[in-house]
Amino acid sequence: QDAEPDMPEAVRHVWRDVLRRDPHQELFHADVRGALRSIAPVLVEHPEYTDVVGRLCEPERVIVFRVPWTDDHGRVRVNRGFRVQFNSALGPYKGGLRFAPTVDLDVVKFLGFEQVFKNALTGQDIGGGKGGADVDPKELSTGELMRFCQSFATELAQHVGATIDVPAGDMGVGPREIGWIYGQYQRLVGHHEPGAFTGKPAVLGGSALRPEATGFGAVYFTQRMLAEQGKDLDGARVVVSGSGNVALFAMEKVIAAGGTVVGCSDSRGSVSEPDGVDVDLLREIKGQRGSVADYAEKRSGATSGSDSAFLLECDVALPCATQNEIGTDEARALVDHGCWVVAEGANGPVRPEAREVLRAAGVGFGPGKAVNSGGVAVSALEMQQNAGRERWTAEDVDTRLQQIMSDAYDRVRDAGERYHGDPADLENGANAAGFLRVAEAMTSLGVV
Ligand code: GLU
Repeated sequence: QDAEPDMPEAVRHVWRDVLRRDPHQELFHADVRGALRSIAPVLVEHPEYTDVVGRLCEPERVIVFRVPWTDDHGRVRVNRGFRVQFNSALGPYKGGLRFAPTVDLDVVKFLGFEQVFKNALTGQDIGGGKGGADVDPKELSTGELMRFCQSFATELAQHVGATIDVPAGDMGVGPREIGWIYGQYQRLVGHHEPGAFTGKPAVLGGSALRPEATGFGAVYFTQRMLAEQGKDLDGARVVVSGSGNVALFAMEKVIAAGGTVVGCSDSRGSVSEPDGVDVDLLREIKGQRGSVADYAEKRSGATSGSDSAFLLECDVALPCATQNEIGTDEARALVDHGCWVVAEGANGPVRPEAREVLRAAGVGFGPGKAVNSGGVAVSALEMQQNAGRERWTAEDVDTRLQQIMSDAYDRVRDAGERYHGDPADLENGANAAGFLRVAEAMTSLGVV
């Protein structure tokens, strides 16, 4: 603890408690450390929120469960499932389910803690949670994956509901899997309750534009960041990592705004294409389980390799793959290439030490909890539509999404300016702004 002499006095006891309770949760610790530093100056103006901080860092409830299932050879297999119900002060717990071999309690707590702030920034009435399982869906057949989802949902069902906890997808979990999970939930509870899950297939009450929302929202947020620097996407060279929904729809929006996607990547490698990536072709190839290297083979102007896409020259970097993909080497390359803005479409893709490199060089940085909040924001709109038995058009949802992202940007910039003396400090600003809304709700509820 004394190795953290710069941890502000007002929050130091909270930090000690977090370390003592869960000594080995490094991702969670790194996130809490950053949040506490951002929050400390807020307590000077709002001393009444001081005792909220300790409660905020402790999840309301952590559920860990066994997921038994039978594979195609009749063998019984077992995985571990999680749901961290982190904070419900603003509304039902809300957050995705991640299926990946790397999922453990540390990952889910880190993502759940992020989600509390992110959801607060959307201005919607949703608390924060996260869940998932340590399974690699790519290794399962379609039938195995459906049985897995059903087993997962059988346990999850007793903990969720439209007014309790509303899961959605995340890495490895898309509308198809949410449909299966919701299908099992519906059979168990014996009634229709579409508002218990979001990111559903459209036919089951999924919102228009929900698949696009995170990627589109990330670009709307980035446009506000660029405008602050007197720049825009028209003519900009953009690198987008990742090849899931977030990345592909971010690319689409970048191109619509006049930018050129000069580089992209997946977990196997990266592609450089100075004349611009063909998103439709990339989507088609990824849809057939191909790689970006397969894509590059079909394009004469493209070259593929194993280096990070962020070593390429670009004006805007949108990491949309997964956590920790930009380290100091990539950050230095971005600085050397004169990059204007790095905005996190994924959760935590820029390592803390890389953020320091960007900050020192004056490169704009947009933290994931603000930049990628469009996905969960449209999930909240899906909950509204389900509750009102309505269906809104894509145009209607898009208008609301643009407003939500713009308001989130204002909140984050204003808090950066007010509490950290710098409107461009969006990282501290996002933590401070998210904290303010959650702390007000928690205080209004009494000691919760
Ligand atoms: N998994 C997405 C996120 O991290 C969406 C969560 C949701 O829609 O509930 O924000």
